[in-house]
Amino acid sequence: MGPEVEELEQKLAEFCNAKHCISCGNGTDALQLALLALDIGAGDAVFVPSFTFAASAEAVALVGATPVLVDIDLRSYCMSAESLERTLSFTRSINLRPAAVIPVDLFGQPADYESIFTIASKHEIRVIADSAQGWGATYKGQTTGTLGDVTTTSFFPSKPLGCYGDGGAIFTQDFSLASKLDSLRAHGKASEKYENVRIGTNSRLDTIQAAILLTKLEVFEKELEERDKIASRYSQKIPDQYITPTLPAHVTSTWAQYTLRARTAIERELAQAALKSAGIPTAVYYPRPLHLQTAYANFPQDPAGLKHSEQASATVFSLPMSPYLTLADQDKVIETLSLPA
Ligand SMILES: *Cc1c(COP(=O)(O)O)cnc(C)c1O
Repeated sequence: MGPEVEELEQKLAEFCNAKHCISCGNGTDALQLALLALDIGAGDAVFVPSFTFAASAEAVALVGATPVLVDIDLRSYCMSAESLERTLSFTRSINLRPAAVIPVDLFGQPADYESIFTIASKHEIRVIADSAQGWGATYKGQTTGTLGDVTTTSFFPSKPLGCYGDGGAIFTQDFSLASKLDSLRAHGKASEKYENVRIGTNSRLDTIQAAILLTKLEVFEKELEERDKIASRYSQKIPDQYITPTLPAHVTSTWAQYTLRARTAIERELAQAALKSAGIPTAVYYPRPLHLQTAYANFPQDPAGLKHSEQASATVFSLPMSPYLTLADQDKVIETLSLPA
């Protein structure tokens, strides 16, 4: 907790216009600390999209609450408001207490916050934004960090703002929540270090990682612009047989991943194989939605099924994306995808 940590927290808060930033050990801790700070635990239901990285739901289970799996919208790959509404009603019928929703800014695109907040206010539940991939994106001119009641992010090296190991942060506009988070990340300390007022944990951001992030933050805005240029170029030039990502006019993305969809699982396999033989790496985020994973299959889920999460898992793949991807590299990806299968 050297001086760079506090300096970084101030700069991160400034970047997204948040009142408070509390750094921590990683993005999973950030979610867990946010849940603890909101007093979420046994008997509480927390709504999470099924098509996400496991940590979004894992943190919920770790604090003793029940993750409830919601379907996605196939255009944004983010949580479907319609599925959330339906799943909320179902959850009350099985005697769980709806407490919070965790929209995930998947692949870097902010979730449908307006619709989610409408539902959250109606049902009096909190919104914890998992912006591990989307921190720095905007929604109606507002930067992620102030879009949820609490927003969490990760600085794992593969994230748009990555350090050289593990790191995370939590953002909120609420002073009392911020003080509680500051206490929770340091063993539930009071203002006096060896006075413990609650059960917390050890989740420090290393000073050396903070120093790296301070330097990388200086070029972050520029890197986001470069990512956006590459994404636009991909979207213009990739042939129509692939469903490329489209953003509504009121959002920008960090393009944590440039993820497109083939029409079928077989077409995806052919595309990935062609790219691989041209020396181009691709990846599937995520090959199996949470409701079909051993660890999560028995948690409650949308009673109407999670068809879009399943369809996405079967057909999505992600292309190389980095602010430093050369034009020649981009062209090679585009040309390979344009070859007849
Ligand atoms: C990476 C990620 C996390 C977890 O972050 P860690 O720093 O790896 O713990 C949580 N949610 C999403 C959506 C992520 O992509």
